[in-house]
Amino acid sequence: MKLIEHFVNGKKYSGESKKTGKVFNPATGEQSAELRFASAGDLDKAVDIAEKAFLNWSNKPPLHRARVLFKFKELIEKNYDELTKIIVSEHGKVYDDAKGSLTRGLEIVEYACGIPQMLKGEFTENVGTNVDSWSIRQPLGVCAGITPFNFPAMVPMWMFPMAIACGNTFILKPSEKDPSCSLKLAELFTEAGLPEGVFNVVNGDKEIVDAIIKNKKISAVSFVGSTPIAKYIYENCAKNEKRVQALGGAKNHCVVMPDCDLDQAVNGLMGAAYGSAGERCMAQSVAVAVGSVADKLVNAITKKVEALKVGPGMDKNSEMGPLVTKEHLSKVKSYVDLGVKEGAKLLVDGRNLKLQGHEKGFYMGGCLFDHVKKNMKIYKEEIFGPVLSVVRVKNFEEALNLVNDHEFGNGASIFTRDGDTGRAFSSKAKIGMIGVNIPIPVPVAFHSFGGWKRSLFGDQHMHGPEGVRFYTKLKTITSRWPSGLRTDPEFTMPTMR
Ligand code: NAD
Repeated sequence: MKLIEHFVNGKKYSGESKKTGKVFNPATGEQSAELRFASAGDLDKAVDIAEKAFLNWSNKPPLHRARVLFKFKELIEKNYDELTKIIVSEHGKVYDDAKGSLTRGLEIVEYACGIPQMLKGEFTENVGTNVDSWSIRQPLGVCAGITPFNFPAMVPMWMFPMAIACGNTFILKPSEKDPSCSLKLAELFTEAGLPEGVFNVVNGDKEIVDAIIKNKKISAVSFVGSTPIAKYIYENCAKNEKRVQALGGAKNHCVVMPDCDLDQAVNGLMGAAYGSAGERCMAQSVAVAVGSVADKLVNAITKKVEALKVGPGMDKNSEMGPLVTKEHLSKVKSYVDLGVKEGAKLLVDGRNLKLQGHEKGFYMGGCLFDHVKKNMKIYKEEIFGPVLSVVRVKNFEEALNLVNDHEFGNGASIFTRDGDTGRAFSSKAKIGMIGVNIPIPVPVAFHSFGGWKRSLFGDQHMHGPEGVRFYTKLKTITSRWPSGLRTDPEFTMPTMR
């Protein structure tokens, strides 16, 4: 059985712990590897190495760091196919979708290549006579990232390229369900000329996450995952005096107005609800049908969900792959059971899908519920699978209130031809990322990604300008030249008046 280890100090690292976990290929349902779980001691050792590497790396000119990133970008491009296949083999999503998610990660590396421009700082000559003042942003030290299973390349790439470009060193703890992509990226970054110890990957579960929280040498933690764990990370990192951004779960609404281009809305919803088997934090899991559009919308979607092609991620005909693990598959199916019990109308039932030749894979078909109500658990909770709930409302105000009353605030979209409605929704929705006639409004690399409400604990979003702010601290210097200028002592607050 293949053994997956850690990556520390520029090479593979076994660590002292003998604890392991299992990695599966969701398409076949078979175990593909054994994964080493680090001990707290292994983590502390990696952090010591990263702390040492920081002294040299943080001192390198930003232009030098950018050159290493340019080379890393080239190597990712050279290894696109291999990286994509790794994602498919451990996550299960279809090849083109996996490739797209890698491209989104690559775009952050490209953005990070512009780090010299982003670290230029600000300067004011003569804040007082012969007194100048300037602000610079300096790296924090050792930063850590803890990532979920659903984007094994893209989410880690929201974090480490930005952190490292800013001059920090990094410890990544990827999801134990699909860790291999992170290890391959670490190898490629080293091949690109990244000094040893700057980027380290340490595998494990809760034990290692707790060791990250406790380690005093880690200055900042970026987390992406479910809301209860995000809250736990936020609270405990803060207690341990770390800077923290913790992105949590979601329940994204897609408001469909009667005046919309229905084909556009239906196609948008199909991709957003069932793409990546609904295992996206920006997946649309609630369609809010406004007024007279409801029956037309439900009829059109029903036909498409029934026709959804489910199969292995490497099969070119597949539109939707398997779910990530057997446990996750049963969890999603149990939500569908619950929805039926709660009284929602199950129009398409994908629970019993059997794929000939792939009987052991973690597959289910798309599910569609109509007449879902606000008080139902299938509406309130994140299912994170291929299950779309239609909620019928009378008008735009009711749709907006529904969106705003939900505990999550990651993404939301509206389909309409009316500019006033689109603008009102953009302005009034209590949501971090909004799409107008765009089904999955994931911001590009040079903007920042993050939700509101219980979808993000902390202040700063990921990548883009907020990424630079998160991974640096501000210093403002005020100085008086030329030397030789003398004044008497001043005991009052200096002002220029
Ligand atoms: P998860 O919360 O189970 O795991 C995320 C990370 O936390 C993993 O590395 C895992 O090892 C670790 N972890 C798990 N349990 C822990 C515990 N008890 N204590 C400490 N650490 C623990 O999430 P997941 O199932 O891997 O990913 C799916 C979730 O991630 C969904 O809720 C999804 O919405 C969310 N997500 C959010 C965003 C976003 O940007 N807001 C993006 C992607 C995924």
